Amino acid sequence: MSAPLKVSPEPKYQKTKVVITKGDTLSTLFERLNISQQTLYEVLSADESILALETLKPNNVLIFKYFTKSHELQELELFVHAGHRVIYRRAEDGGIEYETLIQDGEWRTKLISGEINGSFYLSAQKAGLTEADAAVVTKIFKEQLNFARAIRQGDKFQVIRNEQFVDGKPTGQAHIVGARFQQKTNEYTAFLFDDGRFYGKQGHSLTRAFRRLPLQKSYRVSSHFNPRRKHPVTGRIRPHNGVDFATPTGTKIVSTGDGIVTRVGNHKFAGKYIDIRHSSKYKARYLHLHKINVHQGQPIKRGQIIALSGNTGRSTGPHLHFELHINGRPVDPLKAKIPLTRSLTKSDKTAFLKLVAMRTNMLDSALESEINKAHETMLAD
Ligand SMILES: [Zn+2]
Repeated sequence: MSAPLKVSPEPKYQKTKVVITKGDTLSTLFERLNISQQTLYEVLSADESILALETLKPNNVLIFKYFTKSHELQELELFVHAGHRVIYRRAEDGGIEYETLIQDGEWRTKLISGEINGSFYLSAQKAGLTEADAAVVTKIFKEQLNFARAIRQGDKFQVIRNEQFVDGKPTGQAHIVGARFQQKTNEYTAFLFDDGRFYGKQGHSLTRAFRRLPLQKSYRVSSHFNPRRKHPVTGRIRPHNGVDFATPTGTKIVSTGDGIVTRVGNHKFAGKYIDIRHSSKYKARYLHLHKINVHQGQPIKRGQIIALSGNTGRSTGPHLHFELHINGRPVDPLKAKIPLTRSLTKSDKTAFLKLVAMRTNMLDSALESEINKAHETMLAD
């Protein structure tokens, strides 16, 4: 006789991990898991402050945790990469709250060297730079060097790239911190300073300064940046990650800096919006717009009119909601320390020149060891 079978109780929660593929939408994912559309709206409402779920990217991961029987959602985790996760959670009072988990981890430095053979883009890719890296290098030097005309076969370039590791694993996040382009008679150098801008080796800025505000006239601030604000419509504690200006619908909005449009969209609650990336450090966001004048991928100049303000999405009246993010975190755009002039202060310049010495040393010794290697190869031939 066999012992009676032990029946283990049905687990209370279920976890389902979904790797996003092209064409997936939140709506279809919720449907597939039989989680209500009402819950989806609650999640989207919580997401209004961060827009993390607004465009799901292939290979992003969503982890749903829900009651096995009722399919009621308890937690939804968006895993962008190990350094950037967002958790939406059912709060005790019933609504959905979010938490952003940002881990800086460790940035490792990598040096990439190459030689021009054909276009810069092709040569850069051959050396191991991404298309985005090549675009950054072209942009850094654009005031000094015409990459379409002034480069020659055999010109040398070196790029220093910082790559992010969290718990020893690469997150796929990387940015350029230095570059050098050497021609027979000219040399161009640029290094990233901790204010997020590139400077030449004597400390002259290669990037334009920011303007503080994205408006051509001054308008009353109707709501300040406030990490602990109560939402005016829902009454829940919901961080106000930007500053609101009481602009009438149709007011011209100008970009606060040079940059590139990374996202344009229309969110149920945030309305028509624009994301602009100014550098690896600074990002800006504009919500509740009436009309958008730019498209995704478009390069933008400081002061360029990018939109007209409006009252779209969930909004209590016409206004502009403007956000500034530094290293992935929203900051008060009225108070944040941002470069508003082109030149460095005296103490910053001293710090920058120290950095130049260190980085130049790194570039020179890499070049030397390459020359030695080439020499050895020649001897061996
Ligand atoms: Zn606002």
